[in-house]
Amino acid sequence: MIEVWKKTELEKLMRAYEFRYSKAWGQNFLVDKNVLEKVVLAAELSQDDSVVEIGPGAGALTVLLAQAAGHVTAVEIDKRLIPLLNEVTEGLPNVTIVNDDFLKYSRDNSAHDFDAARTDNSLRFVGARLKDCDGKVCESIGDSQGKSARVSRPLAAQDAPQKSRGYKLAGNLPYYITTPIIAGLFETGADGARPRPPELAVFMVQKEVAERLMSPPGKKTYGAISVLVQYYAGIEMLSAVSREVFTPRPNVDSAIIRLRPRDLSGDDTETASRMFRLVRAGFDMRRKTLRNSLAGAGFPAADMAAALEKTGIDPIRRAETLSPRDFYALASYLP
Ligand code: SAM
Repeated sequence: MIEVWKKTELEKLMRAYEFRYSKAWGQNFLVDKNVLEKVVLAAELSQDDSVVEIGPGAGALTVLLAQAAGHVTAVEIDKRLIPLLNEVTEGLPNVTIVNDDFLKYSRDNSAHDFDAARTDNSLRFVGARLKDCDGKVCESIGDSQGKSARVSRPLAAQDAPQKSRGYKLAGNLPYYITTPIIAGLFETGADGARPRPPELAVFMVQKEVAERLMSPPGKKTYGAISVLVQYYAGIEMLSAVSREVFTPRPNVDSAIIRLRPRDLSGDDTETASRMFRLVRAGFDMRRKTLRNSLAGAGFPAADMAAALEKTGIDPIRRAETLSPRDFYALASYLP
């Protein structure tokens, strides 16, 4: 097995594939096995778990996840990395490599059913490793030169639809799209489709982003994304990670965070969508008082004034001082 988490091994591999890192795709690969193991440990994996990995890069985290979980679907946007990933994960039957933009992949798999990679009718979503071919599953298996050979086998038990199963998410996230990825786990899409959030997500993110996501109300770092994430999930900062353990070395430090979606069965989804109208309006004009900024949410002024009064929230406060539960309470009094 290629120990791709070792800088020398990674460099050797990258030379063999004449690979040049793409800044645009946020390619800073982790070369510290301890840090990678922290991510795996934080995902609390067992053989019953399906994990989706966002942006596997050269596969260092993929290999370690595959050793701990039942199945890993690794979604990588850069097609140059696919033969390399096939080589690194060769011999791991529980890894599916998908060549796609994760944002598109999660949208296309309606209801964010990431087990789709293993279902008969959804094989069209799957890129390099698993393809629909005449009722059979075809796997591309990389040989030692990184070339792919196609083999086919009849549909097996693990390919059967497993829509009810949960999944976990993990990834050393490309920093340019951290916010859309995290928001997309919870936000209702433009088509009204509700995502199926993971049971748990462990991400490596830029340290400043972690601080923003975790920020309490009233701080400069508190924004609409903090409200969104904190409403839907409990969030923990597990470890700070130095920029020195990546290659190439980025200009920022990182942090490992864990999100656990809350049980919101007691909440009303329509109230939640009204709440996010308030959040958007409130943070669009965050320097203004609630009385003024919330006018932008489009509710009748009298209803808004009544809702503020019923919740006991002073209209001269600013949106940035309201907790996610304050926003929810306010929305619950609006028509
Ligand atoms: N997981 C690897 C590691 O820890 O060494 C690589 C992490 S690197 C920070 C981010 C990876 O995400 C890169 O391989 C990049 O090509 C990939 N990526 C960037 N944008 C993506 C997207 N929209 N969908 C899927 N992968 C993406």
